[in-house]
Amino acid sequence: MKSQRDKFNLILQEVARSGRQWNEVVPLAKVADKSFADLNVKSPLFGDMNWKARLEADDGQFVLTGSWQMDVPRQCGRCNAEFALNMSGDVDVTYAIGQSKSEEEQAELQLTGEEPEMLENGELNVLDVLREHFWLAWQPLVVCSENCKGLCLQCGIDLNQGSCDCHKKVKENAFAALKDFKFDA
Ligand SMILES: [Zn+2]
Ligand SMILES: [Zn+2]
Repeated sequence: MKSQRDKFNLILQEVARSGRQWNEVVPLAKVADKSFADLNVKSPLFGDMNWKARLEADDGQFVLTGSWQMDVPRQCGRCNAEFALNMSGDVDVTYAIGQSKSEEEQAELQLTGEEPEMLENGELNVLDVLREHFWLAWQPLVVCSENCKGLCLQCGIDLNQGSCDCHKKVKENAFAALKDFKFDA
């Protein structure tokens, strides 16, 4: 499928010497592709992506620098509450037009951070770049707050909203068990 050219689909050869700039809201519907299938994109906690960046042409190379942020609905790993996690990140990638290297070579070069990423036809899809950075920033386990007390492991009460006696009972039970224990002298 030939991608349509718009402000997110660029042909590097066509980028003017003055470069390109973005300072805008990228609608969630544009960012979300099938890699978002497991996320609840209908949630009101989901936000659009803020994207502020510039692409500068520099001696045959193209440097994309910017930052993004986005609210994403997540479930707290301690109390299970759903909350909006503000995700953000920086983008700093250098591109050049030419033969793309093998994946292995590319990974190695990217580790050193010095070699540009080669784009064979000069086609740059900024949305793909944003999705890649989004998933790089993804944390499998998140908490609603560093101070979240979580749920009681015994009764399941949300300890942020109330308290229980389970801790005390566990102690009592332990003593009761000890009482029944027959000691063979
Ligand atoms: Zn929590
Ligand atoms: Zn409890």
